[in-house]
This record gives sequence, structure tokens and C-alpha cells, in this order.
Amino acid sequence: MIRVIDGFHVGDDGDWVAEMSCLHNQHIRHRPPFQNRPWINNDAERSGHVGSSIECPLCDRAEMPEGLSLLRTAGPWDQDRLPKGLRGSHRTAERVWGMLRVTEGEVAFQMETVPVVDVCFSAGSSQPIPPGMSHKVVIVGPVRLVVEFWGEPR
Ligand SMILES: [Zn+2]
Repeated sequence: MIRVIDGFHVGDDGDWVAEMSCLHNQHIRHRPPFQNRPWINNDAERSGHVGSSIECPLCDRAEMPEGLSLLRTAGPWDQDRLPKGLRGSHRTAERVWGMLRVTEGEVAFQMETVPVVDVCFSAGSSQPIPPGMSHKVVIVGPVRLVVEFWGEPR
């Protein structure tokens, strides 16, 4: 999934790390011939890459970044009270991760990651939902679920 670079910092290993709009971090290295990014070591050129786009494979795998804080929890809902907005295709806001947690019964879930997620979750399952990723919840029977929203620590 294409993301925007919000900024850079130096990682523990001394290499530059891009901070991305999905809240993932991604090392940016200049190691020719395999990683050819000489701009990362030049202050002005690196600054010029803030706001540019970059592919994030961690988002395609729906791997939630570490170190996020729970912002709020929505629900719990059952099969009759699940809001209409969650049943149609929708997206979480930029820089906000969702976490679907099924506490009873089961529910179908679809998400337009690459490859697409199209699964049925039973009680005890949870699924991270990357910011801006189109997804929907499909009622298949009795269920009880909550949706958590995670973001940057306050
Ligand atoms: Zn990402």
C-alpha cells in the first residue's frame, strides 16, 4: 500500500528510518547496487522527500505497528446492533489503526489488502485494520464484537 513519508529519524543501528503516515517505520538505506538511495545521506535531499510516497509492505500484511496507544473502543455490538456504517465498505482515518475483536459467535470480514482478506472470524479472533484500508464486516449469525482504535501515544 502506498504511504506518505511524514519525517525521518536515525534508528538504533545508526541508519535513517522513515516515519510513515501509517505509523510504520521503514529503514531507508543507500547500499548500492541493491539499495540505491544516495539522497538519504544528504540533509536537504532527505528533507525534500518528506511528503513523498513509498510502498509499505507491512500495511499490505496488516501488521500493526508496535508502540501504539489505545485511543477508544467502539461497541460492543451484536448482530442486530452493528452500525450500518461498519457493514458497508469503509475506511479508518489516516494515522488511526482499527482492531476488530470478536468476543462471541462469528463474523465474516473482508479487507482490500494485497492479497485480499476474506475470512470468517470466531470468538477470540482479532484483526488489525490499517489506516485508510477499505474493509467491511458481514453478519453471518449471532456475534458480539468490539472495534478498537489505536494511534500515536498522547
Ligand atoms: Zn505501513
